[in-house]
Amino acid sequence: MRILVTGGAGFLGSHLIDRLMVAGHDVICLDNFYTGNKQNVLQWMGNPKFDLIRHDITEPIRLEVDQIYHLACPASPVHYQYNPVKTIKTNVLGTMNMLGLAKRVKARFFLASTSEVYGDPEVHPQPESYRGNVNTIGIRSCYDEGKRVAETLAFDYHRQNEVDVRVVRIFNTYGPRMLENDGRVVSNLIVQALKGIPLTIYGDGSQTRSFCYASDLIEGFIRLMNCDYVGPVNIGNPGEYTILQLAKTIQDMVNPDVALKFEPLPQDDPRRRKPDITLAQELLDWEPTVPLQEGLSRTIADFRQRLGSEVVASAVLR
Ligand code: NAD
Ligand code: UDP
Repeated sequence: MRILVTGGAGFLGSHLIDRLMVAGHDVICLDNFYTGNKQNVLQWMGNPKFDLIRHDITEPIRLEVDQIYHLACPASPVHYQYNPVKTIKTNVLGTMNMLGLAKRVKARFFLASTSEVYGDPEVHPQPESYRGNVNTIGIRSCYDEGKRVAETLAFDYHRQNEVDVRVVRIFNTYGPRMLENDGRVVSNLIVQALKGIPLTIYGDGSQTRSFCYASDLIEGFIRLMNCDYVGPVNIGNPGEYTILQLAKTIQDMVNPDVALKFEPLPQDDPRRRKPDITLAQELLDWEPTVPLQEGLSRTIADFRQRLGSEVVASAVLR
């Protein structure tokens, strides 16, 4: 098949492209390189089955494809809050452009939505039927509400124009290729531990998240894209940890001498998050396979290699 991956030069998009290329598909990676980079897809450059297009999805584009995995959107609060109006444009205009493309060429369309549509959840764990508790005017709204509109667009194109859509709600995912300055908790804590600087914990660290390793998530993507169910389907790892537990785990694994530093909790930071994955288990026969310790150790190894000489000697010895 000919498959378009928007946001393909980013963290998740590039792992997805690896899987699609290995499976023998023709892959087009479309990215404006806001938070993605060519390094992530370097291994496919020059391959006749791979194309890389620098393009901003807020502008329309005409391509001939069979499937569209639509991932383009900054995912880290630091990056999506840097230019919130642009984030909304990417989620609304960008998703509309990509749905328009899917409609024109009759491609199956896969939307990377997010657990952020549940906001600061009052139901725990979160099933797909939960409608969420989202602040419409807060600093996270450009992303949360943007993704909620993106879901609405996907379902309206599906009902009105018979676009064949799939919607996944992704919970916090980590792994190799996260940016050093990504700003999300796993990458921040690992980079800090490797550099021997204090690990930043926002608030008292009692808020929880559930962390899914990238390869598990991508397996879920491919199963959902190729099944008959429209969605939305939660994909995430139900193992739930406080941020303090995560920080202590990374501290133990990388550098027990490094200090913990408490900083103010950002506005609207969800207090807890954990996916109910019953639907993914029943429908896709999917569940995560990589335990947190193992996923962290692979992610630490990747950062250690990329940071090179910046890694403090004490950490290198461990
Ligand atoms: P990422 O920031 O690494 O990747 C996003 C990619 O989209 C980057 O390559 C970026 O350059 C590109 N992009 C952004 N705006 C664009 C635009 N206007 N036009 C073209 N390209 C654009 O993030 P990620 O973690 O790989 O996330 C990928 C998708 O998954 C996003 O849609 C995100 O909302 C969703 N998601 C991720 C997580 C997670 O934990 N990683 C959780 C929930 C949802
Ligand atoms: N966080 C933290 N230290 C950091 C970065 C993030 O304590 O250096 C916290 C953040 O406040 C949130 C959790 O970790 O409670 C997850 O943050 P992230 O940005 O990774 O994802 P999201 O909040 O979007 O789930």
